[in-house]
Amino acid sequence: MKDSFCPLCYSALEVKEVTPCMECGGDDFEQDHYKEHKYAEYELYFGQRLILCNFCDVDFGSFDPTYFGFPPGTKVGIGDFHFIREISDKELRKDKYCPECGYRLSFLKFVETCKRENEK
Ligand SMILES: [Zn+2]
Ligand SMILES: [Zn+2]
Repeated sequence: MKDSFCPLCYSALEVKEVTPCMECGGDDFEQDHYKEHKYAEYELYFGQRLILCNFCDVDFGSFDPTYFGFPPGTKVGIGDFHFIREISDKELRKDKYCPECGYRLSFLKFVETCKRENEK
């Protein structure tokens, strides 16, 4: 099967019910609160799109930029996001999830692409 392993740490992925947020959507705590949040799709970094909740979008700047392959000290965050649309469908959906990294496959792929592009 394609994408059975995490692109970052190569752990076996699990299929899990997730919220629309690609970053925290696999978090068990989030799944009790997802309907209280807002979700939006953004374009950011190398033409990629992410759907993030209204917590993860503002918190994005707390990531270490080197996690995405940016040079140390690079400012990452919502200032680089281009708003695409609000997501009204908040229902849970299924995605693959890395229990080691704690992220959904859609986010892990985003990180992997950032790293690859930054290495060019
Ligand atoms: Zn989130
Ligand atoms: Zn992983």
